[in-house]
Amino acid sequence: MRHDGNQLSEHLRFFGELGVAGVSRDPAWRRRGSAEPSEPIQIARPADGVLGTIRTDIGEDCSRCKLHRLGRRQIVFGVGNPNADLMFVGEAPGADEDEQGIPFVGRAGQLLTKMIAAMGFERDQVYIANVIKCRPPQNRPPEPDEIASCEPFLFRQIDAIQPKVIVALGSFAAKTLLKTEQSISRLRGSVYDFRGVKLVPTFHPSYLLRSPDKKREAWEDLKTARALLGAAGELKI
Ligand code: URA
Repeated sequence: MRHDGNQLSEHLRFFGELGVAGVSRDPAWRRRGSAEPSEPIQIARPADGVLGTIRTDIGEDCSRCKLHRLGRRQIVFGVGNPNADLMFVGEAPGADEDEQGIPFVGRAGQLLTKMIAAMGFERDQVYIANVIKCRPPQNRPPEPDEIASCEPFLFRQIDAIQPKVIVALGSFAAKTLLKTEQSISRLRGSVYDFRGVKLVPTFHPSYLLRSPDKKREAWEDLKTARALLGAAGELKI
């Protein structure tokens, strides 16, 4: 990838914000393959095999929980590489995601994209999904009946993608996947198992926007996830 001076200084400023003291010369940290031209964003469609089947099973106008009559515009299924080794799981779509039908496209999404870049990847190399596929009103936390209706689809997405590492973004994703009530501050810093997949909990990008002093810990978590991928062998990108 070519950077002009501005892009480079922006990159380095972000790494600095994340608390990164230096950049590794280890080739494993570099993106493999050509970065240009970048692939178009992939949204699962019926042609996308198992993910397409899961999307079709949800239906165009899912009414399994009350969110369908609480203002959601569309289902936000997931985006990215269906064969990704690295998967990010967030909480629920916000207003921007509800409008565009793509997870993590608002402010938190822009930070997530930078976090992915800091790990040496681009968005289209990983897979991004949420626990809840519909926007809760006023972005309130999802409720237990909504989770119960929606989490089977997330679990099926994970089974289909078979990532090597899941990064659970925020307490909501971590608690749902790990079936625990522990806070994200307690959970982060360790590696867990979700159905044979390594799970790394970290702070949600929205929280990092509010508490930038936590970016250093988030960066430690992302480095852990990156190291686990390296140990897992060649990356599927
Ligand atoms: N926050 C989330 O948890 N998911 C999104 O898709 C956007 C913001």
